Amino acid sequence: MNTLTKKELAHLIRVMTERKGRLLQEIREVLTRAGDERYARLAGEVTDIGDESVADLLSDVSHAEVARDVNEFQDIVAAEGRIAARRYGACIDCEAVIGYERLAAYPTAKRCFECQQNHEKTYISAARSSL
Ligand SMILES: [Zn+2]
Repeated sequence: MNTLTKKELAHLIRVMTERKGRLLQEIREVLTRAGDERYARLAGEVTDIGDESVADLLSDVSHAEVARDVNEFQDIVAAEGRIAARRYGACIDCEAVIGYERLAAYPTAKRCFECQQNHEKTYISAARSSL
């Protein structure tokens, strides 16, 4: 199922790890500026409590400014979970292999291109109808 070479996978993991560090730094800075000490400290304690706990706790953060960073951080943690479960690189909808090119551009991709387009169509129309 997984056609990534070890080298490709190692590269993607490195990209995601670096990105995660930058996201946390951004989240921490914004929250510190906003005076939200509790969550700002949290984002700084990653290595102590583990990324998954941080991702969970950060979902309580409601600052619009960091919402996207928090989402991306959670996507990366989820991608790492799929790597650990050996499901990374397989579409969660149709189980097709997600090519290295797509993953290199978008390491947290969990769907193949076609399923992603279908998903976005569904999601966007659902979001519209709820307005
Ligand atoms: Zn698919």
